[in-house]
Amino acid sequence: MTRQTDPQARALELRQVLNRANRLYYVESAPELTDAEYDASLRELRQLETEHPELRTQDSPTQRVGAPPSSEFAEVTHPVPMLSLSNVFDKDELEAWYKRSLDFAEVDSAELVCELKIDGLAIAITYENGVLVRAATRGDGIRGEDVTTNVRTIRSIPLRLSGDDVPTLVEVRGEVYFPNSAFEAFNQEREAAGLPTYANPRNSASGSLRQLDSSETAKRPLDMFFYSIGYAEGGELPGTHWEALQAMKRWGLRVNPWTRRASTVDEAAQAIAAAGRERPELDYGIDGVVIKIDSLALQRTLGFVGRDPRWATAYKFPAEQARTRIIKIHVNVGRTGVLTPWAELDPVQVGGVTIRRATLHNKDEIERKDFRDGDGVIIQRAGDVIPQVVRVADDYQRDISSTPYRFPENCPVCEQPVLVTEEDAAVRCVNAECPAQFERLLEHFSSRGAMDIEGLGERLAQDLARSGIVSRLSDLYQLDTKQEQLAELEGMGEKKIANLLQGIERSKAQPLSRLLFALGITGVGSEAGEWLSRHFRTLRQLQTASVEDLEQVDGIGPVTAQTVHEWMQLPRNMELIDSLEAAGLTLVDASPEPPADHPMKGLTFVVTGTLELMSRSQVEARIKQLGAKAAGSVSKKTDYLVAGANAGSKLQKAESLGVPVLDEATFARFLTGEMPGE
Ligand code: NAD
Repeated sequence: MTRQTDPQARALELRQVLNRANRLYYVESAPELTDAEYDASLRELRQLETEHPELRTQDSPTQRVGAPPSSEFAEVTHPVPMLSLSNVFDKDELEAWYKRSLDFAEVDSAELVCELKIDGLAIAITYENGVLVRAATRGDGIRGEDVTTNVRTIRSIPLRLSGDDVPTLVEVRGEVYFPNSAFEAFNQEREAAGLPTYANPRNSASGSLRQLDSSETAKRPLDMFFYSIGYAEGGELPGTHWEALQAMKRWGLRVNPWTRRASTVDEAAQAIAAAGRERPELDYGIDGVVIKIDSLALQRTLGFVGRDPRWATAYKFPAEQARTRIIKIHVNVGRTGVLTPWAELDPVQVGGVTIRRATLHNKDEIERKDFRDGDGVIIQRAGDVIPQVVRVADDYQRDISSTPYRFPENCPVCEQPVLVTEEDAAVRCVNAECPAQFERLLEHFSSRGAMDIEGLGERLAQDLARSGIVSRLSDLYQLDTKQEQLAELEGMGEKKIANLLQGIERSKAQPLSRLLFALGITGVGSEAGEWLSRHFRTLRQLQTASVEDLEQVDGIGPVTAQTVHEWMQLPRNMELIDSLEAAGLTLVDASPEPPADHPMKGLTFVVTGTLELMSRSQVEARIKQLGAKAAGSVSKKTDYLVAGANAGSKLQKAESLGVPVLDEATFARFLTGEMPGE
C-alpha cells in the first residue's frame, strides 16, 4: 500500500488503521499490529493533528480510549470516565511531565506514588452498601460492557467489602490479568483441543473476561489488582491516593504490594529501575510504572487533557526487541492440520533468553509484512512469552535477487493440496491420512493430561509413525507383538521397550474422560472430555448421540456438538473405537451415577444474586451432579430461578415469565431432596 503524503488523506488513513486496531485489540482480543506499530501510528496522528488542528475530529483515536462496547454485553455508563495514560520513555520526559504538572497547579512540589503498570484490562467494580453489584470494562472510556457475572467468578474479588468505613456507594478500579505461570499450559490445552491460541497473557485476560458464558470465565485463572477509587458517595474519603490504596486494602481488595512513594523525580526513577529489575520474577506482565500525584485535591486541580489525566503518567519499559536474521522460513503441520509458519533465526539474546525460532503467525502476516528467507528482522518476546518476528529491519538492504516467500500450496509432509478456511484465515491440510497429523495425534494421545504414557514423546511418536509400526492409535495396544521391530528403532533398548509396554498397559485404565480428550477431536479439551463422559456415561452412548443431544451437555456449544457428532459417525473412527474396546480400554464413566429418584433430576435452574451459603460455582456443580441443568439465562424453559441477595434483571424476567423463584434456604432444602412448597 502506498502511503498518503497529503496530511488530510494521511490523517484519515491513520484514523482508519487505528480504529481497526482498537477494535481488534479491545473487542476481539486478537490484535494484528504490535504495540510498537500501534504506538508509532498514534504518535504520527497526534503529531499531524498538532500541526494541522483542523484535522482533529471529535472521534479521532487521539481523543478517545479503547473501543465502544460490543453489542453482546449490556452497556454501562461510567459515572466518571475511565481514561488512558500519557507515556514517558525516559527520565527527561518524566522530569518534563512533573514540571508541567507543578506549573499547571502552581505549586513548588508534589508527592508521588509509583505503581506497577499491570498489563491486563481495566475493570471498574461498583459496591452498594458493601455488596458487589456491577463490574464493567473500560470500553471507550465513557461506556463499557457489563461483565458482572464474569467478574464474580474471580475468587479473590470480594462479593462484599469489609470494614466500617466503606462508602454506601463506591466504584473501585483495577486491572484484571492472566498469570504468566498459567499462560503456556492454557495455550497448550487450547491447541490440543484444536482451538485458536492467544498471543499473550493480556489478550488472554481480555478474551477470558469477555466470554458470553461465565462458566467458561470461571475456568480461567484470572486475578485482579485494584489501583484507585473512581467514584464514591456516602462516606469519608481519604485525602491522598496513598491513603485510598490503604483504605481499599482494609476493605478486602487486593492492592499490589510493590507500590512505593517518592518525593522527587530522582526517587521515582530509582523506583522505576527497581521495578525493571523485579520484572522477570513477577507472575504477571508489566509494561511500565505508573507515576501519580498523591494529593487528590491536586489531582482535581490538574484534571485531564484529551484522553489522559494530567496527574499521572506511565513510564513505559522498552519492548524486549532484538535484531537478527531469518535463516529460513519453515512451515509446521499441527495435529488439526493447520500449517503454521515459523522462522529459523540466527540465535540472538532477548531479555536474557537465547531465541532460535520465532512465530510468523500465519500466511497473511507473512504477505502483509513481506518476510523472506535471509531478511534482517526485528524480533520481540510478546508478553514476554512467545517470540515473534515483528518486521523487516529498517536498515536492511535486500539482495536484488530476493523474491517474496511463497506459502506452500501443498502440505509439506503428505504433499496433498491445502485448503484455506475463510473464517479463521487458516491454511489446512485436510488429508485425514497425513502422517504429520498422525504423529502429532500420537504425541497428544500419550501426553500427560491425556493417556499419560511415559516415554512416548515427540521423538518416539515420530519414529513409530514413520517406521509404520504404528499407523493408527489402536496399533499401540498391539505393540507387545512387535518387540523386534521396536528394537530396531534408534535408542530403543530392552529396558525402554519394557517401560513403554508397561506404560501402554497402564493407560488402559485411564478414565473415559481422558480417552475422549486423547482422541484429539477438535473442540474437545480435557474439560469437555469430562462433561461428555459424565453426561453420556459410556462411549457407546456418545456414539449414538445426535447433534441436539450433544448440545444439551453443559459447556458444549453447537460447533463442538457438530464436530463431535461428525467424528463419531466416521466409519474409521467407529472401527477405532471397536479396536480400543477389544484392547480393554475403559469406555465407561466411573463416577457415581446421579441418584435416579432425586426430585431435581432433569430440571433446569438459573442461579442469580449473591448467595450466602455456597459460591455460585459450588451451587452449579451440585445442580449438575444431581442430573439437573444449570443455565445462564432465564427463559420459558427454566424450571426454577434461585435468587440470592440483590438479584436484578434475571429476577424480573423470571417474574414476568411466571418462573417460580426460590430463595437460598428453600433451594438448600431442595438439594437434600425436599420439594419446594412441601
Ligand atoms: P495504557 O495501557 O498505556 O494505559 C492505561 C491503562 O493502564 C489503564 O486503563 C489501566 O488499564 C492500566 N493500568 C495498569 N496498571 C495501572 C495502575 N497502577 N494505575 C492506573 N492504570 C493502570 O493505555 P490504553 O489506552 O489502555 O492502551 C494503550 C496500550 O495498548 C498501548 O500500549 C498500545 O500499544 C496498546 N494497544 C495496542 C493495539 C494493537 O493493535 N497492538 C491496539 C490498541 C492499543
